[in-house]
Amino acid sequence: MGDSTLDVADVVDVVILGAGISGLSFAHHVARAGLRCLVLEAAPSPGGCIRTARGSDGFWFELGAHTLYNSYSALLDVVAEAGLRGAIAGRHPAPYRLLVEGKVRSVPSQIALGELFASAWRVFTLRKAGRSVGDYYGRLVGRRNWRRVFSPLLSAVPSQRADDFPAEMLFKQRPRRKEFPRTFTLKNGLSTLIERLAGEERVTLRVNAGAKALRRAEPGFAVTTQAGDTARARHLVLALPPDQGARLLVPLLPAAAAALLRVRTTTIDSTGVAFAKRDLPFPRLAGLVPLDDVFFSAVSRDVVPDERFRALAFHFRAGLGLEERLERIAAVTGAQRERFALVGEHRSCLPSPALGHGDIVRALDESIAASGVYLTGNYFGGLAIEDCVLRSLAESRRLLSESK
Ligand SMILES: Cc1cc2nc3c(=O)[nH]c(=O)nc-3n(C[C@H](O)[C@H](O)[C@H](O)COP(=O)(O)OP(=O)(O)OC[C@H]3O[C@@H](n4cnc5c(N)ncnc54)[C@H](O)[C@@H]3O)c2cc1C
Repeated sequence: MGDSTLDVADVVDVVILGAGISGLSFAHHVARAGLRCLVLEAAPSPGGCIRTARGSDGFWFELGAHTLYNSYSALLDVVAEAGLRGAIAGRHPAPYRLLVEGKVRSVPSQIALGELFASAWRVFTLRKAGRSVGDYYGRLVGRRNWRRVFSPLLSAVPSQRADDFPAEMLFKQRPRRKEFPRTFTLKNGLSTLIERLAGEERVTLRVNAGAKALRRAEPGFAVTTQAGDTARARHLVLALPPDQGARLLVPLLPAAAAALLRVRTTTIDSTGVAFAKRDLPFPRLAGLVPLDDVFFSAVSRDVVPDERFRALAFHFRAGLGLEERLERIAAVTGAQRERFALVGEHRSCLPSPALGHGDIVRALDESIAASGVYLTGNYFGGLAIEDCVLRSLAESRRLLSESK
């Protein structure tokens, strides 16, 4: 098949593969510096792990990422530069609860306090470096507390079993910007940011345009999409899940592909349901974490209260069909299926880093140095949106300095 150029005039400065927050924040930075970007996204809409479900009546809830913090300084800069400072909406405080044998329970009620007090002193001496989450926090709260309560609680953070994560990657101390609410979202949900970034000047987004093959082609790179189109650009940026990046980089940078293949990934099937307020029997909560179930957490919309509706997004282990997930949601909430006011589903892919992850990142950075290829994503500093934006900022600066 001959090359048919995408609906973009001639060669662009930068082609970015993947329209999640990593790809779009990268596009934001280089577009502000005057470069023209083409963003190619495999899915029918941008956002990746950021996906707001919206009903026709204006009610919305998050099917993926849900919480931003005033310690997300790089993200806050992007939000402000994109003109969305006025869209920041503080989240109302609400507790996380546990689901224990079908009942909603407080977290403290499930903790063995004797074991906790006998272990917690280690917080003054124990170092996170070189330890897994299970090892580090298990020593702080006691083994039994860890297995029964804290492992499920911390696994709710990355929507997967977190025991083997490097302890340094899960929670990070970052300076807070106190002029912003401690935790916040955006009016109309986090997809508001995605939509704004995708529409910025000098940024062109193509959806249903997954990258299939890469090659070097003067004056830089050519990307062939699933549809058979070819896009050409001087610089190439991969903002993809690591397994996807590895597949594409084999012919171009085999050492980078080999390093990417060492990053394990997991799939999360999220299913969210909105309920008329009277139909959900739970007390107000930020989220529900089961001690042992087919889902890791159910994240609530109660933190942005609505007069008519409430919603819960359940983040399931992969493998269940939609019917099974909806059945489980009905059983957990006690709400009848015919009373579900809005249902949304979304599949996400997240990395599952383990000890030694820093070595993979170093190998990756070495393998792409001076190659004209730039890598960003949620598998460098961490999985949080701020980690993605920080990596994109650093890589976009590298691109801008190398393109002078
Ligand atoms: C359920 C859930 C809840 C979360 N909650 C929070 C939270 O509250 N706060 C927080 O800070 N973080 C949270 N996270 C983590 C955070 O949302 C993600 O780490 C981050 O959004 C990932 O962004 P990304 O752009 O690196 O990757 P992704 O969002 O995965 O984007 C990658 C994009 O690449 C596209 N793609 C794949 N293959 C191709 C291809 N061949 N060609 C072109 N495009 C392709 C994908 O379709 C996708 O759109 C959560 C994640 C999940 C799943």
